[in-house]
Amino acid sequence: MRYSSTNHNSPIVPFVDAMRQGFAPDGGLYMPQNVIPLPPPLFWNIAGMPSTDIAYVVANTFLSEDFEPETVRSIVNHALSFPMPLVKLDETRIATMELFHGPTKSVKDIGARFMASILKTLRENDDTPLHIIAATSGDAGSAVANAFHNLPGVHVTILYPKGRLTYQQRSSFTSLGPTVTPIEVRGSFDDCLALARTATLDTGLRQHVRTITANSINIARFLPQTFHFFNAYARMVENGADPQQIVVSVPSGNLGNLAAALLACRMGLPIKRIVAATNANDTFARYLATGTIEHRPAVATHANAMDTAMPANLPRVSELLTDSKVELHAFSVSDIEIIDAITDVYNRYGYVTDPHAACAFVALNRSLQPGEHGIFMATADPEKCRQVVETAIPSFKNSAPAPTHRPHQQQPMTIPTVYQSLKNIIIQTNG
Ligand SMILES: *Cc1c(COP(=O)(O)O)cnc(C)c1O
Repeated sequence: MRYSSTNHNSPIVPFVDAMRQGFAPDGGLYMPQNVIPLPPPLFWNIAGMPSTDIAYVVANTFLSEDFEPETVRSIVNHALSFPMPLVKLDETRIATMELFHGPTKSVKDIGARFMASILKTLRENDDTPLHIIAATSGDAGSAVANAFHNLPGVHVTILYPKGRLTYQQRSSFTSLGPTVTPIEVRGSFDDCLALARTATLDTGLRQHVRTITANSINIARFLPQTFHFFNAYARMVENGADPQQIVVSVPSGNLGNLAAALLACRMGLPIKRIVAATNANDTFARYLATGTIEHRPAVATHANAMDTAMPANLPRVSELLTDSKVELHAFSVSDIEIIDAITDVYNRYGYVTDPHAACAFVALNRSLQPGEHGIFMATADPEKCRQVVETAIPSFKNSAPAPTHRPHQQQPMTIPTVYQSLKNIIIQTNG
């Protein structure tokens, strides 16, 4: 498989080059150039296959030109080295898939560990300085810092909007030692992502240090998100769902997971319908309804890992929607609906959801028709959003909180939304 830019104005490159560049030189995002559907028998036999075996088949289509099969196998096994259980809520009608059992308790662990494992393979015997840069609105920072901070020669810079992350979200990357530089930006998540983008496209900076962005715009973080949908489908069929009637609801912010769901369908996954669930930041739902992007400032919500008004993976989604065979619905979910849904799921099923999954639950219920089987993706451990969950389920206060106090705090630097400030810090850290 080779990779082309969504702007169609860059050379077509192998996977490793696409990963190293992050953004394509024309500013677009890399996409598989030529998606060949997987052989249909895979889907007849997929129930019963372990998730790592399914992911291996999928990953091989992406990586086989760059890596030997055994290497792909070990990359996949490293990325998926924890359970991803399906939890039935309502017989076969509604289930959820918990994707948050990785080291930082978020779905982003899978993509971050996949990318880190590839870099580690490429950098065996090589410890030339490399800067990993990631912008975060909540969970990407911890997942990326955790996945990369121990690689020799690698320094991780995390950019986040000042005042928008919980203590726990911040401490999960400020407590990892001196190879992680936390930078708080006086601006929004979208400003942070713009700074990261400028840094990775800055040829002047490249004379000082090599940088790679580890946001979901990076092809190496984007592709492994397809695994979730193949696995969700397999577990649903195993669980007795009609294979023709499976509807998947995806908590969506930057639309990496959503684009991956669309890509999985392009690869032949017979999902009946995809539901995109956003919080009050409803750029995508409006885009689907009107076909135009209207920029509004991002608002802070209870599902803060999805607080973006300019979804970074929109170019991928638009490209995949051309000639798409799968139906797509999008819904925006308010903070009030999030709280109600967490309460409702707990009262009805005795199950605790986090605010991001709660958006997907609400959206799924709006879309699901009789005879269909719905699954919503659970992307964060409810423990990570304890305050919101306690508002919805007062008795959650009595459950033992996970230890949150992490002693070694790296003091964040605060910068304005001016690229030169970031550039100076990166150059200094490297010196
Ligand atoms: C990142 C994230 C999402 C949204 O994923 P996108 O690919 O950015 O749409 C949803 N929930 C949680 C908990 C996340 O960390």
